[in-house]
Amino acid sequence: MKHNKIDKSIALFKEAKTLMPGGVNSPVRAFKNINGNPIFFERASGAYLYDADHNEYIDYIGSWGPMIMGHSHPDIVSAIKNQVELGTSYGAPTSLESDVARLIKKCIPSIEKIRMVNSGTEATMTTIRLARGFTGRNKIIKFDGCYHGHVDSLLIKAGSGVATFGLPDSPGVPADLAKYTFSCEYNNKEQFLEIYNEIKDDLAAVIVEPIAGNMGFVPGNEDFLKLLRETTSANNSILIFDEVMSGFRVSLGGAQEIYNITPDLTALGKVIGGGLPVGAFGGKEEIMNYLAPSGPVYQAGTLSGNPLAMAGGTALLQLLIKENPFKELEKNASVLLEGMKALMIESGIPFSINRIGGMFGFFFSEELPNNINDVAKTDDVIFSNFLNSCIRSGIYFAPSKYEAGFISAMHKDEEINRTLETVKQIIQKGITNEI
Ligand SMILES: *Cc1c(COP(=O)(O)O)cnc(C)c1O
Repeated sequence: MKHNKIDKSIALFKEAKTLMPGGVNSPVRAFKNINGNPIFFERASGAYLYDADHNEYIDYIGSWGPMIMGHSHPDIVSAIKNQVELGTSYGAPTSLESDVARLIKKCIPSIEKIRMVNSGTEATMTTIRLARGFTGRNKIIKFDGCYHGHVDSLLIKAGSGVATFGLPDSPGVPADLAKYTFSCEYNNKEQFLEIYNEIKDDLAAVIVEPIAGNMGFVPGNEDFLKLLRETTSANNSILIFDEVMSGFRVSLGGAQEIYNITPDLTALGKVIGGGLPVGAFGGKEEIMNYLAPSGPVYQAGTLSGNPLAMAGGTALLQLLIKENPFKELEKNASVLLEGMKALMIESGIPFSINRIGGMFGFFFSEELPNNINDVAKTDDVIFSNFLNSCIRSGIYFAPSKYEAGFISAMHKDEEINRTLETVKQIIQKGITNEI
C-alpha cells in the first residue's frame, strides 16, 4: 500500500498559516477534524487530483459537488477559454445569463424566475430576506445539522464546518437576530409541529436541505418533508429548499423531483457554476417579482452572472441534460459502498451506507443516522484513522464525518476497484485502535 510523502503540502500549509487564519479560506479544508495536514493541489483531471508533491488521488469530493462530470472536462474548459477571449466581466447584462436561467428552469420547474449570485451563502441569505419581505413576518425555522452557508440568521446548529469544530453557533451573531431563528431536529415531525404551532403567526419561512449533505449524507424522510410543505402552505409561510448541494447532484430536477414536492423558493450553488463561484435562487414568479428592481426587497451583485461563470455553468448544465448520468452515478456509488461495507463487516467493523444519484455517505455505525445527533454518535476514532489512511494512500474522501461524498461520471470500474483494494489493505493494517 502506498504511503504518500506530503512534504511540500506540509511546508505550504505552514506558510499559509502565517498568511490566512488557520491557513485556509474555508474551515473544512484545514483537516482539523481528523488531525491531518491538508493536501495542496496543483492540477486535476477526470476522477483524479494531483498534489504539490506529485501524488495522485482518486477524488471523492469533487470540489464539494461541481466536478460531477469529472475535473477539467473538455467542454467546460473550452467554454471558459472561449469566453476569456471575449472579456471576463462587463458589469452589464449578457445573453449568457439567460442561457443558464433557461437551462435551470427547464430542469427545475418550480423555478419560474431566477436570480444569479456568487455563492450558495448569498443565495440562502436572500431567500430569507425575500421570504420576510414578502410575508411581512420575521421568524424562520431551520433544522439541526442543516447548513445553509454562513448567513448570520442561519448559523444556528448548522452542521458540517460548525459541528466539525464543536461550535454550537458562532460568536458575532447578535442574540437579537438569532432569536428569530428556531432550529428543530431533522426528520422529527413532532418537534417541528410543536415549534410551528407556537410561532406560526410570525413564521416567514421554513428552510431545509431536503437531502442533507452537511451532517454527513442524510436524506429527509418523505413524510417529514411533506409535512413541511402542508404546514407552510396552510400558513402562507414560504418553504425554501436549500438545494445548493443536492441540486444537479442527486438528479436533474434536484431533491424536489425525487420527492415530488414543490417548494416556493429554491437555493442553488456548487454544480451550476461548473467549478466557478456561483449561486442562484429562484421560485414562484409572484415571490421573485418582489425582488429589486421589480419589487421592494433589495439584492445586488457587481459580479453576479459573471460571463466566465455563466459559460462554465452552461457547458456543465448542457452536459448533464444530454447525458443524464444520475442513474449511472448511483449504480457506481452502490458498487463502491457495498464493496466497502462488505469489507468492513467481514472485519467486524459496524458500517452503514447510503447514496442518491452522485451523492453518498458512509458511517461507522450499525444503523444509518437519521439526524445530526445520530451522526455525532458514530465512531470518531475509526473515522479519523480510516480517513487519514485513505488520504495518505491516494483516496481522497471528505475529511469529516459531517460531510458527504461525491462521485463523478469519470469514476469507472478501474477507480472503484482501486479504491476497494486500498480500503481492504487499510482495514488489514488496522483502523480500530487509537493512534
Ligand atoms: C455549500 C452549501 C451552502 C453554502 O454555499 P457556499 O457557496 O459555500 O456559500 C449552502 N447550503 C448548502 C446546503 C450547502 O451545501
